[in-house]
Amino acid sequence: ARRVFSGIQPTGTPHLGNYLGALVNWTRLQEADATTGELPLNYYSIVDLHAITMPQEPASLRQAKLDVAATLLACGIDPKRSILFEQSRVRCHAELAWIFNCITPVGWLGRMTQWKSKMEKMGGSHAQSLTDESLTSGLKMGLFDYPVLQAADILLYKGTHVPVGQDQMQHLELARNIAALFNKTFEYTFPKPEAIVPPATKRVMSLRDPASKMSKSDPSDYSRLNLVDSPDVIRSKIAKATTDGIRGVSYDPVERPGVSNLLGIYAAMRDIDVHEAVKECSDITSTKAFKDRVTESIIARLQPIQSELFRLQADKGYLVCVLDDGALRADQAAKDTMEQVYKAVGLR
Ligand code: ATP
Ligand code: MG
Repeated sequence: ARRVFSGIQPTGTPHLGNYLGALVNWTRLQEADATTGELPLNYYSIVDLHAITMPQEPASLRQAKLDVAATLLACGIDPKRSILFEQSRVRCHAELAWIFNCITPVGWLGRMTQWKSKMEKMGGSHAQSLTDESLTSGLKMGLFDYPVLQAADILLYKGTHVPVGQDQMQHLELARNIAALFNKTFEYTFPKPEAIVPPATKRVMSLRDPASKMSKSDPSDYSRLNLVDSPDVIRSKIAKATTDGIRGVSYDPVERPGVSNLLGIYAAMRDIDVHEAVKECSDITSTKAFKDRVTESIIARLQPIQSELFRLQADKGYLVCVLDDGALRADQAAKDTMEQVYKAVGLR
């Protein structure tokens, strides 16, 4: 059967990019397989050990974990069909990551792009290589190494499918390589996990700088649309979004990244493709009219999610209950794998 694993960091509250890039597929994958009728086993994790690879304030981190849990449930994650849990409550994640650390070449991680871009975002250097002095003094081991922890997250549950956004492709390739390396070294049989990635138009870009992706950890709240944003906030964020001076609406991610990003969002909100979206907007000449139409599509789509989200946020008892149950179930599965791994390596 299909075993699905994916994670989201409690580094803030989920935004429209998380929703379109990942969460829509998370909920879709809860359905039985169309051909075999088999129900998949879904593990969805609030990956708090990943969140602390960047500085987090303890009280906000605790709150963010609950907010993320409420958001996932509001978006349709069903605790009866999916195991929703906090990563740090299943200790095997850190244990398997350590074992993977002992076989993974440093060079494999040196090639990853995320630590480089997160260092830059923190105001660090533009260094591109590990031998760069100015970089290595500021770079934390955890930020450099977290793709190995990600490999452990997936393989701990022998995950076969991983629904993620495009920015995670490189990390998934690393996880596949680590699985193969471990299998070869210790005659084990981790599956090679496959990414399930939505089309490029579902990659949501920053509203302020359409050259970089929308992120929870971007210091500017105006760069993203949070799923909790009120209609007024959405209106003002879209009104301030970067576009261009070209008349009319057309889809051209290279020449018109801002407008194309908004078109992608509009299309996704209405479940149509971008070319249909362009057609629907062909009568529009002013940027303001275009932005108004995009805004209304977002508000309409988010409305039902938000009312459920606010209801859940007020029910902390229920959230804690779901997370307790999830941790228990994930822990059982993780311990089984870990026992096998300890044996294979010779630690038992
Ligand atoms: P952070 O800035 O802290 O890394 P994030 O916004 O990148 O936060 P993550 O928790 O790292 O969010 O990622 C959760 C999931 O959302 C991943 O599968 C990731 O690929 C996807 N995702 C994140 N940002 C986008 C985006 N802008 N467009 C599409 N998918 C995205
Ligand atoms: Mg991220």
